[in-house]
Amino acid sequence: MLDGLGDSVHEFYTVDGSVALAEKLAGFTGGTLAVHVNEMPIKCPVAPLEFAFLSDLCFKRRKMRDRVEIVYVTPLSAAFTKPVASKVLGTMLEERGIRLVTDFSAERVDAAGKKLVSYDGREVPFDLLVTVPTNMGDELIERSGMDDELRFIPTDPHTLRSKAHQNVFVIGDATDLPSSKAGSVAHFQSELLTENVLRAIKKEPLAAEFDGHSNCFIETGGRKAILIDFNYDVEPLPGRFPFPVIGPMPLLKPSRLNHLGKLAFRWVYWHMLLKARKIPFIPAKMSMAGKIFPRQVEG
Ligand SMILES: Cc1cc2nc3c(=O)[nH]c(=O)nc-3n(C[C@H](O)[C@H](O)[C@H](O)COP(=O)(O)OP(=O)(O)OC[C@H]3O[C@@H](n4cnc5c(N)ncnc54)[C@H](O)[C@@H]3O)c2cc1C
Repeated sequence: MLDGLGDSVHEFYTVDGSVALAEKLAGFTGGTLAVHVNEMPIKCPVAPLEFAFLSDLCFKRRKMRDRVEIVYVTPLSAAFTKPVASKVLGTMLEERGIRLVTDFSAERVDAAGKKLVSYDGREVPFDLLVTVPTNMGDELIERSGMDDELRFIPTDPHTLRSKAHQNVFVIGDATDLPSSKAGSVAHFQSELLTENVLRAIKKEPLAAEFDGHSNCFIETGGRKAILIDFNYDVEPLPGRFPFPVIGPMPLLKPSRLNHLGKLAFRWVYWHMLLKARKIPFIPAKMSMAGKIFPRQVEG
């Protein structure tokens, strides 16, 4: 529940918020569930889509799907930021009977009237609103004076050096970069950051190596997940990952193997990432191996 907005408005981006939402959902008997993204960028841009997919499954399992309308409300012009993935994810929303409301720039949440109101006067009524409020950087960044209007740090997209301060490097969610705010991005950046910090200390030219690489599983329900792998220039494409043809994981397609990959990642996190061991076959810079180009997709 968000402060001052009553019992019908919830979020899952904090621990307390997730617990409160779980309790609310357990007692939810039907009506309109609006899943809403207020403004980009947000941490893990696919998280609200996962929530919509898993809600659909949850209500089906509780045999009450016919009593729930699910609406996905986004400020974007499609289900996701990039066209090929948007088409796949948009179709998946449609197949599940989840209504997509795009280009919705929320002016306010009318908690008493139970509706979202956009600047252009559109309204989305709800019985339960699960919103992702505007994500901002930490207060610590504001206190440092290095922040932009969303409390992120203006950062060179390829060297990861602060644009304003030569002796500051930035990775992870704190940057203002157009790469996803995702753990995988922070990880790939960290591999390249070390090299540049060493170069800066030795007063050598920096390597402009970071390409915006992001790699992300999207839980789609029913023990299946989609895997996307992309960077600044290449949008998520279908194909195989990490190897062409043999994969084994399919890209941009729901599969059991991707779901198992996501579960296995827990072990990888604790036993490899935290111990600073390199993950084999997944380089910091995105590889085109196994990806099918849009021309081939259209054909
Ligand atoms: C609901 C949700 C789902 C997500 N799902 C995924 C996913 O499936 N895959 C994925 O890759 N990413 C996912 N993410 C995104 C991922 O969690 C973040 O992108 C990632 O954690 C960013 O790492 P970071 O180190 O930049 O920041 P953080 O992980 O936020 O780390 C910053 C740390 O700084 C600490 N800190 C703050 N202020 C101070 C201070 N003054 N002094 C000392 N320490 C301080 C904080 O306590 C925190 O531990 C998800 C995020 C959310 C919210």
